[in-house]
Amino acid sequence: MSRPSLLDAIAATNAARAPASRRRLRVAKPIGGARVVIDGRELIDVASNDYLGLAFDPSIRAALADAAREQSGARASHLLGGHHPEHAALESELAAWLGYPRVLVFSTGYMAALGAMGAVLSRHDLALQDRLNHACLLDGARLAGAKLLRYAHGDTTAAADMLKREPNRRALLITDSVFSMDGDIAPLTELANLSQRENAALMVDEAHAAGALGPQGRGACAAAGLGTTQVPLLMLTFGKAFGISGAAIACTEPLADALLHSARSFIYTTAMPPAIAAAIRAALRRIIDGDDLRERLDARIAQFRIGAQSLGLPLVASTTAIQPVLVGDATAALEASRALMDRGIYCPAIRPPTVPPGQARLRISLSAALSVADVESVLTVLAGTHRSGYGSC
Ligand SMILES: *Cc1c(COP(=O)(O)O)cnc(C)c1O
Repeated sequence: MSRPSLLDAIAATNAARAPASRRRLRVAKPIGGARVVIDGRELIDVASNDYLGLAFDPSIRAALADAAREQSGARASHLLGGHHPEHAALESELAAWLGYPRVLVFSTGYMAALGAMGAVLSRHDLALQDRLNHACLLDGARLAGAKLLRYAHGDTTAAADMLKREPNRRALLITDSVFSMDGDIAPLTELANLSQRENAALMVDEAHAAGALGPQGRGACAAAGLGTTQVPLLMLTFGKAFGISGAAIACTEPLADALLHSARSFIYTTAMPPAIAAAIRAALRRIIDGDDLRERLDARIAQFRIGAQSLGLPLVASTTAIQPVLVGDATAALEASRALMDRGIYCPAIRPPTVPPGQARLRISLSAALSVADVESVLTVLAGTHRSGYGSC
């Protein structure tokens, strides 16, 4: 038998992996109040995406528990009897909140991206994306078989040039609103203008903005005054500021119809448990009335940035809850993360391929659940770690 062994090849790849790129699962038990217990130690948690602290909100947990007393699983896919009144209510409440004609819920953001892009793109079309877009958006384009082009991060001129070189191809322009590893916001108004000028449809992924940014937490597009006309495909997720899980695509009627007929990750999967939909509805109510939480979050962000600047930490131009501290080398980032952990802060290192080579970092993720004293502690520890050398890039 001359066929090379698949399993041997995998074992060889594993053995050849450099220590700095090795990943391992760690058990982490959050206990609320931005605290997480790891290896028996209670740490300040600056790693979660729970920007408003809603994962521990009593009224949301009660809504989840109440709905779960009636039914656990959805029992079927949406089109075959699994579309529960909780899903329908969630979709119409989301549509009213966002001011979009239709909303479809998905089990995760990853599935929403694959489903929506698969439904609207064919192999003849162009998927034009920011180089730093989330992995699920790249995978969505690849799965659809579309021609994938990536422009330099935030560079609308580069995107325009790419569109001009492909005048005869139908195109979807796709961007994160808040970039997940950098925390900066895409030039949404410029991209909307470009999409209008070039007749390229615009899709925006609001995973890190929904709930945390904009009027009533409606996101970065709403904050920029953009709606259905400019952004006919709006994606949001419920695992971050909503503190639960799941996702939605807000769109026009014709797009919703297309998704219902061809979004494979919507059609061929069990609907999310109705209790999850009920919890998302409760989180939505808290988010609409959530200016207090967003103000608290903004105060922590300002405190962190002012403190970090005066300590000379290498920050990036982010005004959101995501505050990366660039380290550069993957090994150095791992060591910095370990040093933080020793001093009571949980902040895992973000390494390639999640970020480009040479751009390993600590991704500080701020939350309304952190106190002023917590942010002070994080800054003090970061300053100590920084002085001892990781920030030499
Ligand atoms: C987290 C994230 C997703 C994936 O959402 P899940 O619901 O966690 O699958 C998609 N896009 C962006 C930008 C994200 O940060």
